[in-house]
Amino acid sequence: MDQGSSIAKNSISCPRPAGLPKDGAGQSQNRSCLRNKEAVSVCRREDNEIRELNETKAQLEEAKNVLEIRVGAKTKALRELAAGLEKEVKDRTRELRQKIEESENSRVALMNMLEDMEDLRRRTEEEKEKTLAIITNFADGLAFFDARNCLALVNPKMELYFGIDKKESKGLIGKKIVDLAQITGFAPLAELFDGALREISRKELFLSEKAVFEVSSLEVAGRADKIGTLLIVHDITREKMVEKMKTEFVSIAAHQLRTPISAIKWTLRMILDGDLGPISEEQSEFLEKTYKSNERMINLINDLLNVTRIEEGRHLYDITIADMEEIVRGLVAVYDDIAAQKKLKLNFKKSDDIIPAVKVDVEKIKLVVSNLIENAIKYTLSGGDVFISIGQEDGNVKISVKDTGIGIPKNQQDRIFTKYFRSANAVRTETEGTGLGLFIAKNIVETHGGKVWFSSEEGKGTTFSFLLPPAEKPIIKN
Ligand code: ATP
Ligand code: MG
Repeated sequence: MDQGSSIAKNSISCPRPAGLPKDGAGQSQNRSCLRNKEAVSVCRREDNEIRELNETKAQLEEAKNVLEIRVGAKTKALRELAAGLEKEVKDRTRELRQKIEESENSRVALMNMLEDMEDLRRRTEEEKEKTLAIITNFADGLAFFDARNCLALVNPKMELYFGIDKKESKGLIGKKIVDLAQITGFAPLAELFDGALREISRKELFLSEKAVFEVSSLEVAGRADKIGTLLIVHDITREKMVEKMKTEFVSIAAHQLRTPISAIKWTLRMILDGDLGPISEEQSEFLEKTYKSNERMINLINDLLNVTRIEEGRHLYDITIADMEEIVRGLVAVYDDIAAQKKLKLNFKKSDDIIPAVKVDVEKIKLVVSNLIENAIKYTLSGGDVFISIGQEDGNVKISVKDTGIGIPKNQQDRIFTKYFRSANAVRTETEGTGLGLFIAKNIVETHGGKVWFSSEEGKGTTFSFLLPPAEKPIIKN
């Protein structure tokens, strides 16, 4: 608004006093004039005041305008600020909402995770209970030793087998196998380990006629490390009883058969030798075959008797100091003819070593050497070779029988030395045989403190060797 025009519009002017003559004379005139003058002066003062007031008003107006402008500017600034703040509040609100949403999502995810974990915990718990139930109700005795070889768990069957009550068994938790050997019913079991927990396989533990067990232990591995060792005790009392009955039956049958078969042998011999009168060539041929079959039967019965003796633990020995070279040489001479009939060459070699004397049951050791030579002859085709050697290894006497025969198939080699086992290729080559020879041989060698082993390749040949420890006073021979 224009400031000047506003002042003009609002200006106030002093009016001429009423009743005053236009051209006044006299005193009354003077007095009236005076009064007029005063009125004029009042008027002027008023005018001045009015002007001043107008000016003040104008100033005020101006100030008001300035203020209005300032207020407008401030209002604008404040509006802008408010708008900015509003926007910021909106942004913040949005952010906050987002955050709330995110945290809600996280909460949900966390809840889900917790639920999953709870589920997993429950399942693990169930698995643990299942495993425990299996262990508790397992038909064999079980004991678990942790990674530090301390007893961690014993199942009821184990407690039953070794006559330990629950309370006592709890007190054993945390003990090592050596401690068990000292103090508890587990002592016979712990003694099998010779003081240190290790893997063993099917070791027999005889507690009494009514308690025979087979003990195995195996290391249990986790993903990376060993978690512990599991001991399994299997009750074989019944099997042992059946086996004993079988052995007794075979023993009785073999004994019963031996007498009539020996009688047949001597009768046949007498007829063949002409002691009971002359016989024709044809009769002699038939009787010779019968005699040989009878001999095989005698051998079989002897083998069976030997096996039953071994199994009954009464494989008694008539121990003497002997020279193995002499024994082996003698047997090579016996088998020379048999080998020659099969067009095989028997080679004997003694190494340059000094062969120490041994303490052996000569008859039994002869059985071993004979069986090895017989096998080499039986399982080598005509034209082949058999090498028999005697030498010394680490102070022990070593005897080897090597052939260029049919060999033993790889997949059957772990069954050699078990009772009645004959490999498929051997059965095809040589129909006769009971599969008892090596079982007996191994038992005899081991009872003498020695060991027997073999190496073989199918189609190429086999070498069987055994070691016998020396007697206290070795024979010095050239
Ligand atoms: P027997 O009881 O009459 O001796 P056997 O010779 O069959 O019968 P073992 O001497 O115990 O029984 O031998 C067991 C099996 O081992 C044989 O049947 C054969 O399969 C295998 N075997 C043993 N020696 C040899 C060998 N030198 N070459 C190849 N196989 C062999
Ligand atoms: Mg044999």
